[in-house]
Amino acid sequence: MPKKVQHHALASAPVREKARPASSRLPAGKAGSSKASAKARSASVESRLLDVRVRLAEVADLEGACAVLRWDQATYMPRGGAAGRSSQAATLQRLAHEKFTDPALGKLLNGLTRALEARSDDDCDRALVRVTRRDYERATKVPVALVDRLSRYSNDAYAAWTDARPANDFKIMVPHLEAGVALTRELAAAMAAGQSSGSHHVMDPLIDSAEPGMTVASVVTLFAELMPVLAVLLQRATAHLPPQSACLFQHFPEAKQLAFGLKIAEHFGFDLLRGRQDQSPHPFCTTFSTGDVRITTRVKANDLSEALYSTLHEAGHAMYEQGVAPALERTRLAGGTSPGVHESQSRLWENIIGRSEGFLTYAYPQLQKQFPEQLRRVPTKTFYRAVNHVAPSLIRTDADELTYNMHIMIRFDLECRLLDGRLAVADLPAAWAEAYRAVLGVTVQSDADGCLQDVHWFSGPVGGAFQSYTIGNILSAQFYAAALARHPAIPAEIAEGRFSTLHAWLRDNIYRHGRSLDPADLVMRATGQPMTTAPYIAYLTAKYDALADARG
Ligand code: ZN
Repeated sequence: MPKKVQHHALASAPVREKARPASSRLPAGKAGSSKASAKARSASVESRLLDVRVRLAEVADLEGACAVLRWDQATYMPRGGAAGRSSQAATLQRLAHEKFTDPALGKLLNGLTRALEARSDDDCDRALVRVTRRDYERATKVPVALVDRLSRYSNDAYAAWTDARPANDFKIMVPHLEAGVALTRELAAAMAAGQSSGSHHVMDPLIDSAEPGMTVASVVTLFAELMPVLAVLLQRATAHLPPQSACLFQHFPEAKQLAFGLKIAEHFGFDLLRGRQDQSPHPFCTTFSTGDVRITTRVKANDLSEALYSTLHEAGHAMYEQGVAPALERTRLAGGTSPGVHESQSRLWENIIGRSEGFLTYAYPQLQKQFPEQLRRVPTKTFYRAVNHVAPSLIRTDADELTYNMHIMIRFDLECRLLDGRLAVADLPAAWAEAYRAVLGVTVQSDADGCLQDVHWFSGPVGGAFQSYTIGNILSAQFYAAALARHPAIPAEIAEGRFSTLHAWLRDNIYRHGRSLDPADLVMRATGQPMTTAPYIAYLTAKYDALADARG
């Protein structure tokens, strides 16, 4: 996800550089008895696993170091550092890639896959080999030349986009985006190579790479379930006079805003002995190890919701990363299991908790104490309505909880059509405007506020990322409902400022597993059913019906 820097950085544990077991030192075959032979085979498995772990630890260290450089670049680096930083990061990335795609590692993983076949599905070594092998195959399937061309596309298109958006000039982007679409098709074809079945849409391999097991068709089904409900709720929410959100747009000193948001994040469970918050133009979360997980936020003196909700969002990502079992450090199993599940954790704390009446019962009086001049005369109910204000708009990143998924669906549909050839790049602005008119009832006046607003298509593959935002929304409600079923007192606790029961449930059912469970498996174990839109629809319906009723 754009707000979340995903990698597998595990730099905290001491580097275990002791003897990498060489195959020459493995027990030779032809052991005297079958018992001795079984023992020899088992020793061989253990030493090969150790070999894999040592290799992965080095890759993780390089990636972790690269993440530190990127974090610094986004927060404190002077402008003059850009060129040097870009080559430093590229060198570390190349070294990590070379180490990870070493054919010797592939051979080890193939052998271990066979050797561990008999172990249970829950065996941690088996999970390590399964996930690492999948990552390895993905990393080696795409030709290095194609990776280079995609990287050049990203650099060139991004540079052009930084001119085209302020100039409101889509024409600048047409040749770039045409190249991006062609490259993305090549990428998808390379990723699909060797897969006999299951790939029906050109974008399927990109979706599967982000959200294992999902396809264009399964994402389309999710949108088809959500959209009619969202349309009705939106219609009700906007049928009356717009609620006042003016209380959010007064002058609020920035330092006080930052301190308040961080204090709430800490109460949620973000451990500041193993994390910190800084500022950056685009908020994100990055992990150097489970002992050092950092978030950034941005603050506006004239908008109280900006810093607060960015902080709560990124803290949700950070608590996930901090909660991964320490045993998974410096392997491919550290980190979140998919962008969608990661986003479910940020949305849960930002929206389901942070924008709830119960949470504001606890938090709002404290906020009033911080900003007495601005908020003394604003009742909790008014503030609650302000942070849940609904209005169809042009800009995704400013969208409310209800219309956000509509922005995502529009992008998902357009990128599908760009990739499968139903939509020509030159026709994108018209298709974008038509979708916004049809779905949100708003008129796109300029491409800057239309198809040029997001960086995604101009800084990487054209497709395969947006769906994870909506999957995150859906899962946030499903996980929360499962936590409530187990601990019905959670809402009452939250109204008193106690978050530890919810945090512990998330840690035990989601965080600690890292990537050792695939998303579908994780969701099934944590909630007792596959991903379903029902809890999310129930949550939105109850909340926005009540808000509409309260306004008459
Ligand atoms: Zn996020």
